[in-house]
Amino acid sequence: MTVTDVSGRVRIDLPCSGDHDRFAVVYAEGAPRVPAVVPCPECAAELPLHLERLTESGGLTGCLACGHPELSTRKDFPRALGIGIVVLAAVLVPFLPKWYPSLIAAAILDLLLHRFAPEVVVCYVCEAEHRGFPTSPRHPRFDRTIEERLRYGDRAVMGSPMRPGGTADAPEPEH
Ligand SMILES: [Zn+2]
Repeated sequence: MTVTDVSGRVRIDLPCSGDHDRFAVVYAEGAPRVPAVVPCPECAAELPLHLERLTESGGLTGCLACGHPELSTRKDFPRALGIGIVVLAAVLVPFLPKWYPSLIAAAILDLLLHRFAPEVVVCYVCEAEHRGFPTSPRHPRFDRTIEERLRYGDRAVMGSPMRPGGTADAPEPEH
């Protein structure tokens, strides 16, 4: 594999123990090469990774940073960019013909960006981000009832119980 060939490369952004403002970034040439321990770049703490959460083919059954089995998948697409496109399109409206070509162009561009943007798998508990891993098992998009249960426990108003095996290959949330 050459240096410029990044296909199959994975990336993990994991929080330094207890501090969600500091993230250590780890790259590996494929899931099987993910190291067992990562040094935090800021405090030199040794952060052990939960490699038992990798399937044989490199998929994720849980978070590599904290081991929790509930993850969500979202598009790895900066929200600000999407909003910027819409704002720019709206600003241009008065200068363009009556059929609003800039709004139509923005809608199409937004759609394409979402369609082709890569995905990132995020841990509900520690917010670690996993990129480039095989998508099987698949973790559904963000589910607020999971977040609610993890945050409030028994006091969660609309928390849903954890399914066996966490979110791996779980159905997409209905809401
Ligand atoms: Zn985690």
